[in-house]
Amino acid sequence: MTQETGGFAAFNLNPNILAAVTATGYEEPSAIQQQSIPIIMAGHDMIGQAQTGTGKTAAFALPILHRIDPAKREPQALILAPTRELALQVATAFETYAKQMPGVTVVAVYGGAPMGPQLKAIRNGAQIVVATPGRLCDHLRRDEKVLATVNHLVLDEADEMLKLGFMDDLEVIFKALPATRQTVLFSATLPQSIRAIAERHLRDPQHVKIQTKTQTVTAIEQAHLLVHADQKTSAVLSLLEVEDFDALIMFVRTKQATLDLASALEAKGYKAAALNGDIAQNQRERVIDSLKDGRLDIVVATDVAARGLDVPRITHVFNVDMPYDPESYVHRIGRTGRAGREGRALLLVTPRERRMLQVIERVTGQKVAEVRLPDAQAVLDARIKKLTNSLSPLVAEAESTHGDLLDRLTADIGCSPRALAAALLRKATNGQALNLAAIEKERPLVPNNAPRGDRPERSGDRPERSDRERRAPMPLGEGRARCRTALGARDGIAAKNLLGAILNEGGLAREAIGRIQVRDSFSLVELPEDGLEKLLTKLKDTRVAGKQLKLRRYRED
Ligand code: ADP
Ligand code: MG
Repeated sequence: MTQETGGFAAFNLNPNILAAVTATGYEEPSAIQQQSIPIIMAGHDMIGQAQTGTGKTAAFALPILHRIDPAKREPQALILAPTRELALQVATAFETYAKQMPGVTVVAVYGGAPMGPQLKAIRNGAQIVVATPGRLCDHLRRDEKVLATVNHLVLDEADEMLKLGFMDDLEVIFKALPATRQTVLFSATLPQSIRAIAERHLRDPQHVKIQTKTQTVTAIEQAHLLVHADQKTSAVLSLLEVEDFDALIMFVRTKQATLDLASALEAKGYKAAALNGDIAQNQRERVIDSLKDGRLDIVVATDVAARGLDVPRITHVFNVDMPYDPESYVHRIGRTGRAGREGRALLLVTPRERRMLQVIERVTGQKVAEVRLPDAQAVLDARIKKLTNSLSPLVAEAESTHGDLLDRLTADIGCSPRALAAALLRKATNGQALNLAAIEKERPLVPNNAPRGDRPERSGDRPERSDRERRAPMPLGEGRARCRTALGARDGIAAKNLLGAILNEGGLAREAIGRIQVRDSFSLVELPEDGLEKLLTKLKDTRVAGKQLKLRRYRED
């Protein structure tokens, strides 16, 4: 991320590739991408050294796609990966980046699946073959010519392949490829065995190394929280309850994630806004000014958009998505602890990102302590503390300004001061849960359920969207309109809550309400088209689970 503007456009990649990259939401190339893409596009051999999570896949996939000829239906690029899982991940990434390149197909070749269909896909002209070395050698034993047309070879995670004992297989594969091919090798480490391979099989390779310099970050207290990718929003909301912050910046990887998370925070009543590269410069400045003067408390940003941001009010940095490298971690958390103040930085870590956490600890020379999600008691204590803090300054004076009114109201209503104070509290807290049972019910996350790596992680890595959310809604019933609310499962909503609220407040018959689909961050409800506007007005102030329903007509386009 060394470039000021232009992002991926500056590489002059095939426009169809650029369009697909833009569609994934990547804003700026990561450091390894910035340096590797031009070298590979130019046809050079290359050795790339960078840690996990730095974006190596796109660093080779984009320039390789640029260099193949989609019109030629034969294998042109071979990517070797150590495991079946990694091969599948790389193949999926290629498919994503090649989405707008008609005629380009990708085949994944790995053990444990029948060989026939794999061979058929290769012979049918898949231009990109992603394979584990062992299985590929099985294919070569059946047909040694199968790779004869490959002119780009990538060894991904070369050190891991050697650790898994694939040395001999690699030699067999090198021999089966044309000597004129381009060869690119990526590895987190470069032990002697890897250097020897490079010596023998790469021609005049260029070296790219993403440095991991030691950096110090003293005034900032750091912690991390283990969480599954699809629970990040809930985790962030829980943490916000107990963290005592003034202003806060959250970092995510994509533009879409800035928008999704900012609107989830707004829905919870936080003064939050998104900051990303799509937002015009003058608007960005307005967001930063608002953060400075307290009209906003939370900004959800991508790295690019937050560059140079200096707001002394910032007490907290949440790294909701992992940074690409330790430098950008240090850079991100440097947004807090400005001007000698103390700051706090929290990092969300998914199971497969734990290695990156270790790298960060090594590079910063500091242990990043683990914290757990607050439990219901902690949330309750924090809410009561906030209430106490907001009321205690008023107590002294309010009696003289509002004491007489209190007497009058208790007399008029015919209730005790305690009953009236309770009513006022209920009004002032706006339906917020203020006892343990109610808090437990509203929290979709069980505290301390931090993943230990025993559950497979959701694929896709797209922040803030579970698989369920990506599914298209069901077809609409006749005479019905689909309506949407921003309340979903993560707000503790179930279909029966929505049904109950709409039946009670809307005065509808049960049959009038169609399907209700509750997703993680929103819900869809089918209502009668006839009289819909009236109904929505009627439901205007309806609350479910303590939150405003805000049902709107939903247009799918
Ligand atoms: P590595 O192979 O170095 O471990 P990956 O290629 O698997 O890393 O990338 C890690 C994650 O970062 C993936 O979820 C990928 O989609 C995402 N990613 C890669 N490049 C970018 C980018 N330029 N902007 C945003 N996200 C990116
Ligand atoms: Mg990788």
